Amino acid sequence: MAARSRKRREYPRPELRCPGCQREVQRFWSHCPDCGRALQWRDDGTTGAECYRCGWVVSDSFSYCPWCGADIQDEASSAEPLKAPKGFKYHARCDWGCGGGVMYPMGHCPWCGRPQTWRYDEFDGVCPHCDRGVDDWMDVCPWCGGDATGQDLIRRAMTRVRRLLLVSRIKDWGYRVLLRPGVSGVDPRFPKVVEIERRYVIGKRRRDEIPWQMLVGLLVHELGHSFLYHHWSWTRAGRFRRTFGEVREAYRGVEDIWVDFQRRGVATTHPDYVSAYAATHAQEDFAETFRIYVVRRGRLRELFAEFGRKRKGVVVYEKFLVLHDFVRRLRGWT
Ligand SMILES: [Zn+2]
Ligand SMILES: [Zn+2]
Ligand SMILES: [Zn+2]
Ligand SMILES: [Zn+2]
Ligand SMILES: [Zn+2]
Repeated sequence: MAARSRKRREYPRPELRCPGCQREVQRFWSHCPDCGRALQWRDDGTTGAECYRCGWVVSDSFSYCPWCGADIQDEASSAEPLKAPKGFKYHARCDWGCGGGVMYPMGHCPWCGRPQTWRYDEFDGVCPHCDRGVDDWMDVCPWCGGDATGQDLIRRAMTRVRRLLLVSRIKDWGYRVLLRPGVSGVDPRFPKVVEIERRYVIGKRRRDEIPWQMLVGLLVHELGHSFLYHHWSWTRAGRFRRTFGEVREAYRGVEDIWVDFQRRGVATTHPDYVSAYAATHAQEDFAETFRIYVVRRGRLRELFAEFGRKRKGVVVYEKFLVLHDFVRRLRGWT
């Protein structure tokens, strides 16, 4: 006789939400990445034990709280490191080879108490404060509770940049500045995300760090790339193409030479470009034009007087006029 098959009903895993803002969160995140509220993961009745210090769920067999690292050893603690006691999963061996198992994302080994590191491949990037995984949209790091964007580390430069964009009357297109390891730049697939090489701000070596005024130039230059990718259809317009050329041309983004980006004045060497760097590619030409336009607060009269003194070609005037008209159009002024 065949056994009656009982179809197992799949219950969807309950969605975990921040009690403050209701944003979806993941189990064992310390903070809501949206509102920053500190989260607490108590025992839901599985283990019957909570850490005396942080209140998070633990196992009686643990010697250390895997969340806050507190020593919780007592007579119930296992004499031998275990793989995964009830209520916990085995995801990896302890980094230190104590023989015990650890579950993601435990910060400490529950058996030897030593710190654990995890790979955060499923995240977009890493937190500039704790090096653990964060996504681009996160304001608060779910692990350390710090500013996940790293904007707190470049506050002075950010304030200046926002002010410059405002007085240049450039409408906010929803750009998002993130301090990340790697290179500075904008990925055309994510036009609003502007990554700034964090080494310039929190360098392992002091000589990597750059003064905040230079950072302003770098930020505005990269924002120029972001602005152009965001308004990409504009690059098809005849006037844009006649002035800046073919921005779609194959282009392997050169690592930006930020040293140039601190100059507020227009270079005298290239008659048709605002800086030497602008001559490298049409996209850099636009980013540099954008940078000069913004750091000079969109004051065309003042800029054009300088172009005259420096004998710039007609096309340079036109570049600024094309940008200026577009900026006005975005605000609905024309
Ligand atoms: Zn929240
Ligand atoms: Zn604890
Ligand atoms: Zn261990
Ligand atoms: Zn962090
Ligand atoms: Zn560039």
